[in-house]
Amino acid sequence: MAPHDKKPAQPPATISRRQFLSRSSTALAGSMVIALVLPEGTSAGVDGAEYDWNRHRWVYLIDTTKCIGCGSCVRACRAENSVPPHMYRTWVERYEIAVEGEAFIESPNGAEHGFDAVPTGLDVRKGFFVPKLCNHCRATPCIQVCPVGASFATRDGVVLVDPEHCIGCGYCVQACPYGSRFINPETHTADKCTLCYHRITAGQKTACVQICPVGARRLGDRHDPDDDVMEILATRPIQVLQPELLTRPQAFYLGLDMEVC
Ligand code: SF4
Ligand code: SF4
Repeated sequence: MAPHDKKPAQPPATISRRQFLSRSSTALAGSMVIALVLPEGTSAGVDGAEYDWNRHRWVYLIDTTKCIGCGSCVRACRAENSVPPHMYRTWVERYEIAVEGEAFIESPNGAEHGFDAVPTGLDVRKGFFVPKLCNHCRATPCIQVCPVGASFATRDGVVLVDPEHCIGCGYCVQACPYGSRFINPETHTADKCTLCYHRITAGQKTACVQICPVGARRLGDRHDPDDDVMEILATRPIQVLQPELLTRPQAFYLGLDMEVC
């Protein structure tokens, strides 16, 4: 679920397991992408070096066993990316699973202010938090449906929107099965997680990864042989959201309860 609209993903109010279970490009030229996401005149890169998107392939790792639901990531994302009120590029869901198998999922205000201890009346067997964001899928319905080519994937694996070309039709918002997109009420164009492209192309972590106090969110690079995120992906059991959709998400999860997620 995502929090900002009535579609499945933007964060949910409290819903039952039954409700929950019932919901269910190509890269443009490099010069275009850099112009889109970096301030004019910016020299992207680490220590003054030019950023070369052929040398990176970004992935994202979320460890649900670590997340404490504090919402720091949601607040950091809003501050970093000027996300409008009540809209979310990332959010956190809380799952509570009863002994009888019933599951309650909620994400009040995208968990921007964390979670209150709300009694569900259930005999809770298990509870956990699931941070969500755009999965930067490699088989993206959002790109496929865009009638003007404003949604695209970069060579380093990030799905972006060109606001200069987006006509705000909302087809991609409807096409994303994860609820990761919304129409920005200020720009009237499609909006979503950019993986803080302006930061990662300058050698920084995303704002959410940077702020997380428990290391539940990690950024990885497939082209970095020393990247321990890639070591985790290679050696630990990992999951993606709704794998049956064959969208090839590049946001990977540790400890996800596939029974309900
Ligand atoms: S999560 Fe949604 S918006 Fe992000 S790449 Fe996948 S289909 Fe597109
Ligand atoms: S900052 Fe980290 S621990 Fe806090 S809600 Fe976000 S992912 Fe979970």
